[in-house]
Amino acid sequence: MRAQVLLCPTITAYGRLYCAPRRLHRYNSSSSSSQFLNLNLSRFSGALFFHMEVCSLARNLCFSLFSTHKQFQSGTGSSGKRGMVENLKRYGVISSKRVAQVMEALDRGLFVPVGSSAYVDTPVPIGYNATISAPHMHATCLQLLEDKLHPGMRALDVGSGTGYLTGCFALMVGAEGRVVGVDHIPELVDMSIKNIEKSVAASFLKKGSLSLHVGDGRKGWQEFAPYDAIHVGAAASEIPQPLLDQLKPGGRMVIPLGTYFQELKVIDKNEDGSIKVHTETSVRYVPLTSRVEQLGGF
Ligand code: SAH
Repeated sequence: MRAQVLLCPTITAYGRLYCAPRRLHRYNSSSSSSQFLNLNLSRFSGALFFHMEVCSLARNLCFSLFSTHKQFQSGTGSSGKRGMVENLKRYGVISSKRVAQVMEALDRGLFVPVGSSAYVDTPVPIGYNATISAPHMHATCLQLLEDKLHPGMRALDVGSGTGYLTGCFALMVGAEGRVVGVDHIPELVDMSIKNIEKSVAASFLKKGSLSLHVGDGRKGWQEFAPYDAIHVGAAASEIPQPLLDQLKPGGRMVIPLGTYFQELKVIDKNEDGSIKVHTETSVRYVPLTSRVEQLGGF
């Protein structure tokens, strides 16, 4: 099959907005199970050539268009929130009932800056050169980590930003579990605590099974290690050793790796301590870096 799809001028990836080509060529979708798509970016940035997974990118594009339309139809509030989750399910980003339930329960509207689009599939700037990730990336990471987020389990969210995903983790592991969020911008950590306090995850913060800390996430958070699930919300140039050390045998880490070209890596630690890595998809995140680097020019 060969098809040409017209796109909107802006693709929402993760962490940042970037311009997209207006035309996208899809090649022979039946030729491989991973269904790769060649995305010719030369129209706007020289001769760059990206490969991204069709099932991730095209789905997200459709979802972006659809959810924008939907939001205009339904406005914000619970109907927008339900519509967002319904669309993520429709386009196959969410396949599990628990992930759907948690993303519907934790209102993204409480985590985005006032006046911004809470339920549209786009990252939103939150200040300090950071963004709240797009709903499809939150959903993707929750899906990838779902098996390590059962009641009683432990999770670490590095680069916790607004606290949205940290709050989702807390709802999934429950009061008997332990969730730690770490971000190196104190103002963002304060904001994430206020966001959580307004949300259905507030009781976990109050009772202490969820905590948010200021720190360099590249060092992890030793106090509650080892973790069943580690999520890194910013792109590292290499996997930080402390995070590998703090991953429980049988645990899973999801981390974007790379600088300009980035891939979402899924790292499973086997019971014998050995590591298995696979690439989930191409992504675009803000860098996992030092505070000074991040705030440069801010
Ligand atoms: N996942 C979050 C935020 C994603 S943006 C959300 O959706 O709300 C990436 C976040 O990583 C930013 O908040 C940034 O401040 C943080 N960050 C970048 N480098 C870091 C580091 N070395 N240690 C801790 N946090 C870091």
